[in-house]
Amino acid sequence: TPSATTTIPPNVQSLIVQARDLFERAFGADDDLADRADLPRHCASAPGRVNLIGEHTDYTGGYVLPLAIDRNTVCYGRGDIVARADAGVASTRCRVASTTGRRDDCAVEFFADRSSTPSTTSDRWANYVRGVVEQYLPDLPDDETFVLDVAVAGDVPLGSGLSSSASLEVATAAFLECVMERRGVAYSSCGGKGRNAGGTMSAKDVAKERAIRCQRAENVFCGVPCGIMDQFVSSAGSKGNLLLIDCRSLDFQKVSPSCADEACMPVLVIANSNVKHDLGAGEYPIRVQQCKEATEALSKVNPLVKSLRDASMDDVDAAASSGVLSGVLLKRARHVVSENSRTVKAADAWLRGDWELVGNLMNESHSSMKDDYEVSCDEIDVLVQLAQNFDGVFGSRLTGGGFGGCTVTLVKKDVAQGLIDYLNQKYEEKTGSKCDCFITSPGGGAMAISV
Ligand code: ADP
Ligand code: MG
Repeated sequence: TPSATTTIPPNVQSLIVQARDLFERAFGADDDLADRADLPRHCASAPGRVNLIGEHTDYTGGYVLPLAIDRNTVCYGRGDIVARADAGVASTRCRVASTTGRRDDCAVEFFADRSSTPSTTSDRWANYVRGVVEQYLPDLPDDETFVLDVAVAGDVPLGSGLSSSASLEVATAAFLECVMERRGVAYSSCGGKGRNAGGTMSAKDVAKERAIRCQRAENVFCGVPCGIMDQFVSSAGSKGNLLLIDCRSLDFQKVSPSCADEACMPVLVIANSNVKHDLGAGEYPIRVQQCKEATEALSKVNPLVKSLRDASMDDVDAAASSGVLSGVLLKRARHVVSENSRTVKAADAWLRGDWELVGNLMNESHSSMKDDYEVSCDEIDVLVQLAQNFDGVFGSRLTGGGFGGCTVTLVKKDVAQGLIDYLNQKYEEKTGSKCDCFITSPGGGAMAISV
């Protein structure tokens, strides 16, 4: 289970207040279900993330190097596990509301029922919650189900590539784990051995299992064929550390510079382009498919290649010269294979405090995403170029799925604010739109908050 903590960052505290206020507005007063008023209260939070490097590598079992950021989603509400004898009647329904909804006090309702199918209403956001609830139902005895009233508040910008979706899923999961823990119900689907409430599952394994469930929720209930990076780092994030995640074995290690010299440590600036091209939603599944096809082609020159993770640049070159890999598929494979190797190098360079090398790898990553993977766009390229040419910047690149969203820049601490002012001014001059920039540092992962 997520660890309770006493040091809750101020922005999370403010989100808790917002979520609690919304809870009272949406579910508190004149409740038509008097017995719900006594249900136990719970609260949990989970962060968004930024990916330093390792983009579009997770769904082919490769490496990623993200960090949880100090932007979060909080779930506050009441919840319990009750007999399904009542299923189908109002007292076992789940209700969710969000401060970002068009009518925030208007709750979305669904039943936690194993036979549920994704809803296709205009309240599509509720599927991120519902999908997660569905992943936890099999932990309960057959004749029991969840009853929930959950209010959501977050400060991860929506649809900007900082993974508000994963933070919502993982916060929901952590909330459900609070509900289960209170009832002594443990994870049931870890090869029959896992136990979280019983305490025999390590914190690492709990974080991993939670991430797997949240990814499945997004894949199945939201129709996004995403890899596991976002959910993983939101779940397992660690203050002060990047996570080097092996998306095949799901092993991960915390990465922080061994030199403890805070003063010479650069910072990360996130710049939100505030654009999101519609193209992106359709292009993502196309990239996933192209990777499958490229893998098939590569396996003809090297039968050991079962996913792009297994391929080397030599394999890619061999496949290209023998003609089995060409055109768009060659470009896609070249990005993923080179990105995996950059990611492992960047983790090592970060550990050694070799910021020049980290920056160069970030710059190469951007070029590769732009030219070979073709997931950048004009606005993002403007931000990256402005940053890369700014004195004191080590490197800059598009972060997240692409077609808009954010850039991440590694920059000397003493010029970070200067960079932000520069980007604000120049981006508007060049594109006519405003960007939002902020400095971030690696924050913690999902946590339960005592209420
Ligand atoms: P990203 O994950 O990069 O922010 P996505 O398109 O994957 O972008 O996910 C954004 C979607 O997640 C939103 O459109 C919404 O449906 C849902 N979402 C995330 N956070 C919230 C929230 N606090 N309240 C309601 N919906 C949310
Ligand atoms: Mg997302």
